Amino acid sequence: MHGAPGTTKWSQLSFQQDVGAAAPAFGSAFSAGIKAVNGSALRDMLRMAQVPGMVNFGGGLPAPELFPMDRIAQASAQALEKHGWRAVQYGTTEGFLPLREWLAEHTCPGAAGVTPEHIQIMTGGQQSLDLVGKIFIDPGDTVLVETPTYMGAVQSFVPYRPHFAAVPTDDHGIEMDALEALLADLAREGRTPKFIYTIPNFQNPTGRTLSLERRERLLDLTAQYGVFVVEDDPYGQLRFSGEHLPSLAELMLRRTGGDPDRSHVVYCSSFSKTLAPGLRDAWVMAARPITERLVLAKQGADMHTPTLNQMIVTELLPLLPQQVDKLRHSYADRAGHMLAALERELPAGVSYTTPQGGMFLWLTLPEHVNTTAMLPRAVERQVAYMIGECFHALGGGHNTMRLCFSTASPQDIDRGIAALAQTIHAEL
Ligand code: PMP
Repeated sequence: MHGAPGTTKWSQLSFQQDVGAAAPAFGSAFSAGIKAVNGSALRDMLRMAQVPGMVNFGGGLPAPELFPMDRIAQASAQALEKHGWRAVQYGTTEGFLPLREWLAEHTCPGAAGVTPEHIQIMTGGQQSLDLVGKIFIDPGDTVLVETPTYMGAVQSFVPYRPHFAAVPTDDHGIEMDALEALLADLAREGRTPKFIYTIPNFQNPTGRTLSLERRERLLDLTAQYGVFVVEDDPYGQLRFSGEHLPSLAELMLRRTGGDPDRSHVVYCSSFSKTLAPGLRDAWVMAARPITERLVLAKQGADMHTPTLNQMIVTELLPLLPQQVDKLRHSYADRAGHMLAALERELPAGVSYTTPQGGMFLWLTLPEHVNTTAMLPRAVERQVAYMIGECFHALGGGHNTMRLCFSTASPQDIDRGIAALAQTIHAEL
């Protein structure tokens, strides 16, 4: 290759000259799947958060001052000391066994039928959604999502080219009569949705919780119509008022006599909101035919979740109850402070949810107000929020917004809500 007689030098190859002449046809190169993804709202939010003085209720980050930094440092050292080179060697795709054993025991306490084979460790809950999409969705399949729903889930599913069908929700989560009517309509058209994606606890974005009675009915309806349930539960531990409700997965295990292999619920949760999101440690609990497919999907995605991170999380498990308690107290205070400010400042005609946990609440403004158009005017007053439209898989929600209370100080909450109220007043 280096100038030997009769060989062509790289520099003489014509494609080398072409590369310099014109940019590749990027637009036509990308798949229809990725071209369908719209990620701009998130990017805009991240940019806005960096402006000094801005009160940003738009992000969805856990409170950084509550990360257990000393314990994470200690756990990292312990993990390395205990496991040596194994902590940085390739690991199994299923995940670190002691962590899976713990999760098998604790995800649905008392369900003895759950074994590590029903637990798949994931690189963040976001990967769980991507790989669930990868194993279930063929192009053109129907996927049911709540209205509104977590935009990151829509972003994960879109590249697999589903048709979304939107299920209405009210203060108690999915409206079951509407879901039943939708399932019946789809059945008449010969369509069985692959799954329904739902966040039953302190939903992102609304902060609402699915009532117990509706949980049971959701299991009835989905079993009747042969629809899987993807239960996304990253906030379930962060309840700060009201009674704990069993997860859909837990209720389903009661119905199957504790046999996870007869459950049609795919349960996803994460350590992102209870320990720290940068550790990227999450899990799926599901029937073995599902976890076996997830293993194949994950092999092609990232082989396994970083071994050291899984070991660190395992070392931190004894700390979890105390850490979750700390988060609950802090988020209860911040939510209470934000609710009091909303009550004090907001004009009539604006309604908001009262979450019993999690990190978010949801505002609905009068019909004629467009929160996307209003955002620059709010930013001028140094407050940002997440526009409601981006949580609607099929459009709508122009007069809604999500507010995140987990990171703001009481002073910032007061200043930010006062600025938001002024902005809304000016629109009315
Ligand atoms: N699901 C929901 C409902 C979320 O709100 C989030 C994070 N915002 C995720 C999944 C993904 O979380 P992670 O990848 O950090 O576990």
